Amino acid sequence: MTVAVVLFTSDLRLHDHPPLHAALAAADEVVPLFVRDPGIHAAGFDVPNRTAFLHGCLADLDASLRLRGGRLVVRSGPVAREVRAVAAACGATEVHLAAGITAYARHREARLREALRAGRVALRVHDTVITAVAPGAVAPSGSDHFSVFTPYFRRWSQQSPRDPLPAPRAVRVPDTVRGEELPSRGVPGVSPALPPGGESAGRDRFAAWAAADLPRYADRQDDLAGDATSRLSPYLHFGALSPVELVRRAREQGGPGAEAFVRQLCWRDFHHQVLAARPDASVRDYRTRADRWRGEDEAAEDIAAWREGRTGYPMVDAGMRQLRHEGWMHNRARLLVASFLTKTLYVDWRIGARHFLDLLVDGDIVNNQLNWQWVAGTGTDTRPHRVLNPVLQGKRHDPDGAYVRRWVPELADVEGGAVHEPWRLPEDRRAVLRCPAPLIDLGDGLARFRDARG
Ligand code: FAD
Repeated sequence: MTVAVVLFTSDLRLHDHPPLHAALAAADEVVPLFVRDPGIHAAGFDVPNRTAFLHGCLADLDASLRLRGGRLVVRSGPVAREVRAVAAACGATEVHLAAGITAYARHREARLREALRAGRVALRVHDTVITAVAPGAVAPSGSDHFSVFTPYFRRWSQQSPRDPLPAPRAVRVPDTVRGEELPSRGVPGVSPALPPGGESAGRDRFAAWAAADLPRYADRQDDLAGDATSRLSPYLHFGALSPVELVRRAREQGGPGAEAFVRQLCWRDFHHQVLAARPDASVRDYRTRADRWRGEDEAAEDIAAWREGRTGYPMVDAGMRQLRHEGWMHNRARLLVASFLTKTLYVDWRIGARHFLDLLVDGDIVNNQLNWQWVAGTGTDTRPHRVLNPVLQGKRHDPDGAYVRRWVPELADVEGGAVHEPWRLPEDRRAVLRCPAPLIDLGDGLARFRDARG
């Protein structure tokens, strides 16, 4: 009887799972293992919204495995130690794992390789589990990664992705391996409107969204009130959905909506290949602009107003309140609130990125840090000094003000686009609205930023 272990990390699904597929082909019995890693806690990454979503993913994975005669084995402790102990307990000769991209994941992989070597267990690492195209699979001549999106997209689009793999029909787990109870889904401190975690919920969401909204995605992806994007980001973050499969299914459906959606999935791969090549871009400027950012001490009140959604700029406040309520924010609002913090308030992008990571259910070192750098102009944007104007952005992407009215109840009675400039309302009207006065004059913010950037 041969046994293999599959270590699940950011790939909490059964469909299109190369490590599981390979393990089932190689061994008679397979241990699907998830290790609750204390290092994630030490890194401050186990915030309530993501923890609750993760627990939903684990429960769903276990249920799906049980339908196939198996179960999920959950353990807690240092990953290398736990995997080695499980492999020893069941006499496994192989461990299968998705290739990691962040510095943390690579370090974990190196430790695991070392621990398994001592026990003569082979570690098999699979790519195209977490991304559609593996980081480094396409690169410009003379460099290990693309630093500009458009040429990357061109090359990425020419790749032929592998065929998605079906979910297994049966999984036999050895009786000798013991695990813990699944962690509870009730996590304190979660956002009230957090979506449910799990592959099943993700697949249902994709199917429903692809039928109803994918055809019009290209026209509606920036329509804030329409809220017509897929909201699949947390499922992609935890690997409950496979990017390879999503690209395939969208392309099969075809049309401009599908093309635009696949392009967004390429942005995800783009950031992964940047961070894989430059792991320190999670904390340091990818391209320094010699900024002298304002920090917590210098800008404490501005930062607090931004975090709490009371800057007096309705679009910014709406986005920040959506983030707190749902653990998610529309991409157009993310761009705007991040531009406001880094450029209008001239606050260090890392402060904003940390706040996002504290609340986002899709909060992800790769996409979060590199999008923040993109907006701050220290990343891969080819127009690094552009500044988004929250009033003009509101008029363009929320023309009748419905997004603002949804999230900023003080302005619920203000009609139409006037909601974006409450300071222009008559004095007596403003007095009853009780909305905060603008934190800063946009012109002053722009002048400070231009001065700083030379
Ligand atoms: P859709 O519009 O339906 O797009 C489909 C998928 O494409 C998304 O689920 C996502 O996986 C991917 N995608 C879309 N836009 C981007 C992008 N700009 N970069 C990378 N992938 C993208 N995304 C995260 O997944 N995690 C984060 O922590 C994160 N932080 C961000 C911080 C800032 C400041 C900004 C501007 C963007 C950030 N994004 C992040 C990217 C983007 O905002 C979200 O992926 C998107 O809003 C998720 O909504 P959706 O699933 O409906 O996206």
